[in-house]
Amino acid sequence: MQRAEECDGSVMRIGVMTDIGKARRTNEDAFLAEPPWFAVADGMGGHAAGDVASRLAIEAVRSFVAGREDPAETVIVEAIRKANGMIWRRSQENRWLDGMGTTLTLMKVESGRCVIGHVGDSRGYLVRDGAVRRLTTDHSVVEELVRTGTLSEREALEHPQRNLLTRALGANPDVQVDLVTEPLMAGDRLLLCTDGLTAVVLDHELGEILTEEAEPEKAAARLVQIANARGGPDNITVVVLELPQP
Ligand code: MN
Repeated sequence: MQRAEECDGSVMRIGVMTDIGKARRTNEDAFLAEPPWFAVADGMGGHAAGDVASRLAIEAVRSFVAGREDPAETVIVEAIRKANGMIWRRSQENRWLDGMGTTLTLMKVESGRCVIGHVGDSRGYLVRDGAVRRLTTDHSVVEELVRTGTLSEREALEHPQRNLLTRALGANPDVQVDLVTEPLMAGDRLLLCTDGLTAVVLDHELGEILTEEAEPEKAAARLVQIANARGGPDNITVVVLELPQP
């Protein structure tokens, strides 16, 4: 899927793909790609609960951000906390949904910058001039170990606790949201993705694909393809944006 959308008077190219992967029976990821708002969510929980949680999160933020004129930081934090409250309440009301949760990474792209709010291990990346940089910090047990130098990025991919989150939407009545603001330049590429990609593709590899592929929708397809070629152990969702060239 590719769409060119007006955003601050300039055309942004977008490629989005979500895929069930090779090992799961359902796709519990969800996404939002409605410029200037973008998001990915990775649901978890028994029965269909993960699917419910990720969809609830996306629907909650979509309706919350519509028409909001407040600063992006304020809107993002409020939207994510609102989504968290809805998921938490729903899980309390329905025993089939007890324990459901989801990650949520929500981004607004404005002129000259982007603002990302996130909870969990769905990531944001910036690719500029062939260099890739991770913008988010996973709320996971292994991220702590990587940050303290106990594990390498490659070792983290093999760690038995790699799926254990330290923060998720729906786990508690309220949630702490991490905010990242990043200045943007013409031609920058942004990626939001779930861990079905990053569990099997290293940062420098996805940076190379995003640099090589001129079309965002082709880049999105290649990212999904490489994750599936490496076993596709989880659902894979990627949202790729390219800011207009100068
Ligand atoms: Mn996942």
